Amino acid sequence: MSAPVQTLGILGGGQLGRMLAMAAARLGIKAHIYAPESNSPAAHVAAGFTCAAYNDLAALKAFAQSVDVVTTEFENVPAGTCDILANHIPVRPHARALEIAQDRVAEKSFLNERGIATAPWRAVATAPELDAALKALGTPSILKTRRLGYDGKGQVRITAAKDAAGALAAIKAAPAVLEGFVDFEREISVIVARGTDGAIACYDPGENDHEDGILRRTTVPAAISEATRKSALEIARKIVRTLDYVGVMGVEMFVASDGKLLVNEIAPRVHNTGHWTLEGCAISQFEQHVRAVCGWPLGSTARHADAVMTNLLGSEADDWQALAAKDQAVHLYGKGEARPGRKMGHVTVLSAKA
Ligand code: AMP
Repeated sequence: MSAPVQTLGILGGGQLGRMLAMAAARLGIKAHIYAPESNSPAAHVAAGFTCAAYNDLAALKAFAQSVDVVTTEFENVPAGTCDILANHIPVRPHARALEIAQDRVAEKSFLNERGIATAPWRAVATAPELDAALKALGTPSILKTRRLGYDGKGQVRITAAKDAAGALAAIKAAPAVLEGFVDFEREISVIVARGTDGAIACYDPGENDHEDGILRRTTVPAAISEATRKSALEIARKIVRTLDYVGVMGVEMFVASDGKLLVNEIAPRVHNTGHWTLEGCAISQFEQHVRAVCGWPLGSTARHADAVMTNLLGSEADDWQALAAKDQAVHLYGKGEARPGRKMGHVTVLSAKA
């Protein structure tokens, strides 16, 4: 009996696509990358590569004809691209999930409508709206662009109402949300997967440390109570169930000082805070995502070790001899220029389960 999917199309060519392609290969599934950048880390390890713009209709049609199912490795693929592809073949997760994650207002509205708490927020498009939002939420608060923010980009912290004009100028007056500042105890994330059969599986929550808005480290398990762990998993399950989602999703949460969980962001894809699963679990988030979108049954999310995953940013990845000498699993993404803050690789250290 042949497998239902022989070639998996992946929109996006970064390190997440690269690790998805490698997981697919292990399952006997070829990956075909579609990305606009000619030097795409994912294409180095894939069976096929289309280098074209996301609105190139002819290239999209040819891509659809050469793969069995399409998935995404970054959420800012235009939703229209997925709609075009969906006329020909299954696209998982669906375009609506991308649309929600692409726009902070849509994302927070979606969550709040389902009774899932977020930081208090207001949509802001003009200076008077920002003034009103600052009155409502107070300071400190954070102004974030509605779209295209990542790794802390497109965000400004406002510590006093007088800084409002400068903050709006710093984000070039782009449509935004103002968020009340959460005095969190820790940040955690749940990597959750949902299959085509509706089955849901969650990995153990990881605890995340950021530096300058960029993820530095994920530690598993997170230092949270059993009750908080259960609530975090329940929130993640509710999100994928109510979205009729297929694939892996990263759900980032704040654990507030009173123990309450607030969802910060949802990422409709494999997630940096789930990289530890490559060594910490028999079935990684990447294999899990490939299984889900290709219609396979989900695999076990059981964890056989404690893990610390550390991102290698910019030139930190250059000293590969030092990295390799240590007792750690090294992942280098094969990217070109090591710009400061750019995610060039990661390392994972395992220890016996406490
Ligand atoms: P984001 O791009 O929204 O994921 O934000 C990047 C990082 O900034 C988060 O992981 C937090 O460390 C911090 N941050 C974002 N929003 C808030 C908030 N409302 N209150 C406190 N810290 C925040």
